[in-house]
Amino acid sequence: MKNKPKLQNPRGTFDILPPNSYIWKHIQNNLSNIAELFGYSPIATPIIEDSRLFARGVGEVTDIVEKETYTFQDRGGDLLSLRPEGTAPICRSYLQNGMHNLPQPIRLYYNGPFFRYDRPQAGRYRQLHQFGAELIGDSSSTTDVEIIQLAWNILHSLGIKNIKLLINSIGDSNCRANYINHLKKYLTEHINLLSHKECINRLETNPLRILDCKNESCINLTQNAPTSIDFLCEDCQGHWNKTKSLLGDLAIQYNVDTTLVRGLDYYTKTVFEIVPDTEGQQNTLAAGGRYDGLIEQLGGSSTPAVGFAMGIERTIEIMQTQNLLDTPKIAKKLTIAHVGEEASQYAMQLAQSFRQKSIVTIVAPRNRSLKSQLRFANSILSSHVVIIGESEIHNQTLLLRNLNTKEQQELDIKSAINQISK
Ligand SMILES: [Zn+2]
Ligand SMILES: [Zn+2]
Repeated sequence: MKNKPKLQNPRGTFDILPPNSYIWKHIQNNLSNIAELFGYSPIATPIIEDSRLFARGVGEVTDIVEKETYTFQDRGGDLLSLRPEGTAPICRSYLQNGMHNLPQPIRLYYNGPFFRYDRPQAGRYRQLHQFGAELIGDSSSTTDVEIIQLAWNILHSLGIKNIKLLINSIGDSNCRANYINHLKKYLTEHINLLSHKECINRLETNPLRILDCKNESCINLTQNAPTSIDFLCEDCQGHWNKTKSLLGDLAIQYNVDTTLVRGLDYYTKTVFEIVPDTEGQQNTLAAGGRYDGLIEQLGGSSTPAVGFAMGIERTIEIMQTQNLLDTPKIAKKLTIAHVGEEASQYAMQLAQSFRQKSIVTIVAPRNRSLKSQLRFANSILSSHVVIIGESEIHNQTLLLRNLNTKEQQELDIKSAINQISK
């Protein structure tokens, strides 16, 4: 006999199974609730998009588009991509649906899977999950701080401790070219110390990215490099000062990190990350900033915007290391055991009466002995069992057993509901 191939989930993906799926649900509810407290509305965009959106929106020189996006031709010949990130699709939707004609700014949040053809390794997945928020149509530094505050509050609401906020300003189209010239000049003067091959190429294509390179020789080289905050124009300097003073007003502590950059032209002014405050653990929990140039790049008129995204996998990972994950238990769970054909049918109706009173109710499997049904009730951690047979149907009563106290009573439905809900 030929063996059937064993079917498995694709590399770099995983199943979210009970009881962990309750943790995921709990966290995602928490994030949505806080975003809605800040006045953000949910938005969902398709998982597939026209590939040109990411080529334009994410940039052709970044790693994401160069080698990490899942791109394919569909049967109609259209070139589509699985979305690698959330901001470009939202800006596409903002333009396409005329949200620029609504009162500004627009506040949106999203939550869902994203795809990157990454080499699977610890903590990196090909299907990853992100939560994010975007505030579109306001250039004021108060909105930068609002986005930071939202990310900060979300991580704190989950109980996550020992985190720190890193911020930087990378200027805008007025002042960045001048800064990059100075940076290039510095790097060229020290080219003999630039041993990292990837960064030698970056010197021409994307010198800013050399600043956040994790290669040791690059870290040493850039320690004394000129910083973007020393080259801000008047507008960017004012925005930067205001952002820092507002954070101070809110008692949100921050560290200025001048190596925090984004390699794309449409990013402007504020860049921030929230990271664990532990040596050696540099997994970013949330990252964001201003992108005043993106919507124009996608064909709209010049529109300021700011946002952030956070990885759910990393959030769960840090919650695990901080012992913050309790598998939620369902305190009250009722199983209905039934004896005889008539009772088996009646059990379905009866279950409905309990569910209408918000009691989690499961009907025990058919064609099993009462003993086996009770074993089932125990194995799924029921708190209560209701037993029905011919006489109970006839008398409009039921036997209610509390599996914790082992007490058993004969009651009508209404009293049983009261007993369980107590
Ligand atoms: Zn490097
Ligand atoms: Zn500027």
